[in-house]
Amino acid sequence: MIEVEHLHRRYGRKQAVVNVSFTVRRGEIVGLLGPNGAGKSTILRILAAYLPGTSGTVRVAGFDVGRDSLEVRRRIGYMPENNPLYLDLRVREYLKFRARLKGLGFRRSRLRADVVLEQCGLTDVAHQMIGTLSKGYRQRVGLADALIHEPELILLDEPTIGLDPHQIRVFRQLIRDLGREHTILLSSHILHEVEMTSTRVLILNEGRIVVSGTPDELRLRMAGGGQVVAEIQAGRAELEAALENLAPLQECVLSPLDDGYWQVQLTPRTVVDLRPAVYELAVQRQWKLRELALRRHSLEDVFVQMTRGEEEQEGWE
Ligand code: ATP
Repeated sequence: MIEVEHLHRRYGRKQAVVNVSFTVRRGEIVGLLGPNGAGKSTILRILAAYLPGTSGTVRVAGFDVGRDSLEVRRRIGYMPENNPLYLDLRVREYLKFRARLKGLGFRRSRLRADVVLEQCGLTDVAHQMIGTLSKGYRQRVGLADALIHEPELILLDEPTIGLDPHQIRVFRQLIRDLGREHTILLSSHILHEVEMTSTRVLILNEGRIVVSGTPDELRLRMAGGGQVVAEIQAGRAELEAALENLAPLQECVLSPLDDGYWQVQLTPRTVVDLRPAVYELAVQRQWKLRELALRRHSLEDVFVQMTRGEEEQEGWE
């Protein structure tokens, strides 16, 4: 659905996007995550054919964003960060107007307006002035606008910014529901946001993609797969020797517990989940095992590590 190759964008001397390449398959919900100024809005604007890249190729559904921008615009629904709306129009009126602007016929505009009103939970406020709506409802109008022409791809720039926690939950659910039938690329600087909605995450820093993967993959890549914590009843020396033979370890910490049990904290050097090996070991040696867990890193750990600074990112992509 999206193919971006070696995309660069400069604003004067400022390099906002540097050699960015990525693809998004149909049906994915991909989160573009990065701190302020990372280049998220610039990438979305380029994909929406609002802004040209300085160099590189960008295709949406096989169409080049520069050469076939009308074909691209027909296939995308774009909700920009500040979601500009006509405050003195009523919701349904506005949506019909937007549908007409996007080239839909008179009857189809009315039909589609009713469908998206329902889809975005706006039916009750269909005849209300947009200027009298709360921020959450205005965001829903922006989303309804992005959906009105039945686009295949939806681009959402910081869709939940400024919403209260309740509205955020409603909006996230809307995004997940839309993801069943659409491809979605959304940007956010909030980790939890992306974790809750996206099937895949691209982390952007200073205009570059520093890492990508599913939220689970990213957590697993941190500190070589995450720390395994186990509680095992065994002799200390025997336990220690056996654990050190399991895999190359960064750290192995044993702490005494009650009844001859040891709490074991194992941090592997490579990307590996050590739980099956620890279980096998306990079975072979007939040790009692009463807890075995993988302490996953939060996406926040990954984000902080990835966006900390050039010199500390070595070995990460
Ligand atoms: P935010 O989360 O703050 O919106 P972002 O990740 O969306 O940030 P962009 O808005 O794409 O980042 O901006 C990337 C960089 O390009 C920033 O340093 C920004 O100041 C700069 N920039 C963006 N638009 C322009 C412009 N029109 N002229 C000059 N510099 C710009």
